[in-house]
Amino acid sequence: MKILIINAGSSSLKYQFMESEGGQVFAKGLCERIGIDGRLTHKVPGREDVKQDIPMPTHGEAIQAVLDIMTDPEKGVIRSTDEIAAVGHRVLHGGMAFTESCIIDDKCIEAIKKCIPLGPLHNPANLMGIEACQKIMPNTPQVAVFDTAFHMTMPPKAYIYAIPYEYYEKDDVRRYGFHGTSHRYVSARAIDLLGNPEHSRVICCHLGNGSSLSAVVDGKCVDTTMGLGPLAGFPMGTRSGDVDATILEYLMGRYGYDIKEMLNILNKKSGVLGISGVSSDFRDLDEAAAKGNARAQLALDKFAYEVRKFIGAYASAMGGVDAIVFTAGVGENSTDMREHICQGLAYMGVEMDPEKNKVRGREADVSAAGSRVKIFVIPTNEELMIAMDTAELCKK
Ligand code: AMP
Repeated sequence: MKILIINAGSSSLKYQFMESEGGQVFAKGLCERIGIDGRLTHKVPGREDVKQDIPMPTHGEAIQAVLDIMTDPEKGVIRSTDEIAAVGHRVLHGGMAFTESCIIDDKCIEAIKKCIPLGPLHNPANLMGIEACQKIMPNTPQVAVFDTAFHMTMPPKAYIYAIPYEYYEKDDVRRYGFHGTSHRYVSARAIDLLGNPEHSRVICCHLGNGSSLSAVVDGKCVDTTMGLGPLAGFPMGTRSGDVDATILEYLMGRYGYDIKEMLNILNKKSGVLGISGVSSDFRDLDEAAAKGNARAQLALDKFAYEVRKFIGAYASAMGGVDAIVFTAGVGENSTDMREHICQGLAYMGVEMDPEKNKVRGREADVSAAGSRVKIFVIPTNEELMIAMDTAELCKK
């Protein structure tokens, strides 16, 4: 089935048009500066990229621009929008309402709206994308795929916070976790690579600009590092990861920050950027560290150290581990970071082959011969997961 995938942000919208079986990508692109002016970048494999300035006051004009270019006789890939069998939307927060993907109807939209307090930045933007598609393609089925859904199998001891229980009961405060579509995709692929054993314990390391780990037993998530929101876990590009809440009170008192300013610091100015003062981009950090920048090196050391700590914690939580998966920008591409993280893990049967580890952006088993734990590099494919879910629900 040919599926259009939409990932709507507040001022941008990514799209990909692909085949749900096999994953062939026909076209993909990005609308930027929605609500400001509007710019479209459209990519078709084997052709030159198209860049156009198109007014996009709202997400409606952005979706229309995507459909116009997709059906353009020269730049397009289809003759009419009838060739789009269904639309799959990436939605950030499904709260406790969504344990899996669902066909979008009025009830689903109401439930996504109810999750806005949990995902105040993303859910409204995701809804704008959905509403724009419904208006322009009223007869095309739409599916919502949630970043949180895969983690809903976590047991209460993993998702409960040790704060008064009433905040869980009355206000839905709990660990949700994110990057679920990626964790689902790479953990399923790892289980395939392990030969589909009856029992499997996989640790997925999604290491990109945003990063999270998940512990997956027999294909089901039992723990993950992100929390109610995506700020939790270990340091990321610009996010702090877990911090002692006392720091908030201390800095807010010293500098007179309000909570918005404080959270902006933790979300946008922290992580490896905050430690290094150089960049949130791991390639820049590698370069600076190689030239002797001690803080860039400290940021890389801190990142690897915290990921390694969570690997140990999740192996304990699962009573062992059969495979560790590296995915996303850093996980798929950085030979050095993978090696750094796996250093010193031989005691738990994790042994890397440095030669095999010299791989970038393609699937590989990088564990040493005889390593008890397999180490896989598996490029994530969230779009394919969304397309597969969308096709399956539409067929039903
Ligand atoms: P993502 O959010 O998954 O797109 O990942 C983005 C991150 O991947 C950025 O911090 C990049 O620096 C990082 N990245 C991409 N390629 C490499 C590479 N070859 N070595 C180190 N980091 C990389």
